[in-house]
Amino acid sequence: IETDEISLCEVFSKTLSFLKPKFETNKTDLYFSCSGFPIIIRGDRNKLQQVFINIIKNALEAIEKNYDDKYISITVQLDDFNETVQIQFIDSGPGIPDGVINKLFSPFATTKKSGTGLGLPVSMQIIRSFGGYLEAKNHEDAGACFKMELPTKSVDY
Ligand code: ADP
Ligand code: MG
Repeated sequence: IETDEISLCEVFSKTLSFLKPKFETNKTDLYFSCSGFPIIIRGDRNKLQQVFINIIKNALEAIEKNYDDKYISITVQLDDFNETVQIQFIDSGPGIPDGVINKLFSPFATTKKSGTGLGLPVSMQIIRSFGGYLEAKNHEDAGACFKMELPTKSVDY
């Protein structure tokens, strides 16, 4: 098991600049807020990036069909003791369809013509290997909400 020490915000800025052209073609706004301090977690950098890309790409694909006020909002928040970090991805899409919400994390659950249904099961497996968890729900006044919690190694003030 690889246990790099990764700066969470660094992984985010790499991921988000990589995905920037997709936000532009999709005419989707990005709202991102992260702690001003480096949040260090243990895990594999590339795998964490893969999880973020999976979740954000799903959101962009869901939003495509919606016409107005398209956005993805990502918030990063530490708990009071700086022991865990919570990351929420909220999108303005139509939400997760009823038929898939209960099997999102099982392999091959997809509503897409050429979907694999593997993005979320693999993401879950990666986040668990980091000692964290991943959950999904539909947001009351928006689309889908993916919430992730990860244990932190440290926060550098
Ligand atoms: P795939 O993207 O190949 O379909 P995933 O495991 O990444 O596989 O996602 C499974 C399914 O979950 C998608 O097909 C879609 O129906 C649903 N889903 C995932 N993210 C969202 C989202 N942000 N909004 C609405 N539905 C979503
Ligand atoms: Mg996917």
